[in-house]
Amino acid sequence: MPTQIELVINKIQTLLNLETCKDTNYERHKIPDELRKEFIKNQKGKCYLCNCQTTQPLIHHIKPDGESISENLVMLCPLCHRWVHWMLKKHLGYRASIDFWKHD
Ligand SMILES: [Zn+2]
Ligand SMILES: [Zn+2]
Repeated sequence: MPTQIELVINKIQTLLNLETCKDTNYERHKIPDELRKEFIKNQKGKCYLCNCQTTQPLIHHIKPDGESISENLVMLCPLCHRWVHWMLKKHLGYRASIDFWKHD
């Protein structure tokens, strides 16, 4: 398998590995503005999953009910963010966000 594909599969496994979050109606922790700004700056506008340069960066919690600390956050473009939450809902039964395109 090409290395690029393996990298993407590893990232998908990270995003959909939810063994630690048993509550499918999880409470999402707020992301402080300062952390949000700094995190987006550090990622240089690149989506964690597809690596595209996005003008609409969304910060996503890897563990849905986990803390808003950089170890638990990734930056995604709206398309990848939508897809991740669709997978979480369809295959793992987690609640859906109100608007995947705008809220992270
Ligand atoms: Zn993306
Ligand atoms: Zn999210």
